[in-house]
Amino acid sequence: MRILVVDDEPYNRMLLQQMLKPVGECDLAIDGREAVEAFMMALDEGQPYDLILLDIMMPEMNGQDALKSIRAYEQEQGVAGGNETVIFMTTALDTETQVVEAFFKGRCTDYLTKPIQREVLFDKLREYKPRHHWEPCNQD
Ligand SMILES: [Mg+2]
Repeated sequence: MRILVVDDEPYNRMLLQQMLKPVGECDLAIDGREAVEAFMMALDEGQPYDLILLDIMMPEMNGQDALKSIRAYEQEQGVAGGNETVIFMTTALDTETQVVEAFFKGRCTDYLTKPIQREVLFDKLREYKPRHHWEPCNQD
């Protein structure tokens, strides 16, 4: 499946890319603006992302605004409910109000608290089943 990891911290991007290697092809974006551009391009090309991991605190455009733009573009392009991209916000522990906003105003799928644990991430993937079928490898 196609994955987009969005985070302004290079270390976080690298960590998630490593974790997700067995699951699919992983692109990277460094802020919300880049994420929205990558998302639109992929959807326009008929190869939308199945999963996006979206940091909330970022320069240029933050995760909240990127989330809203992505959902608005899906709607504009007629992407129906079940075909929406699975989007997990990635947050620090102390950003509870941010998470609430992401759920109710931005319609994120779920959220992950940093530091992100592989098992937690994979459990969420099993729970929400992004569009394309995948099987996680049993490697550690
Ligand atoms: Mg950040």
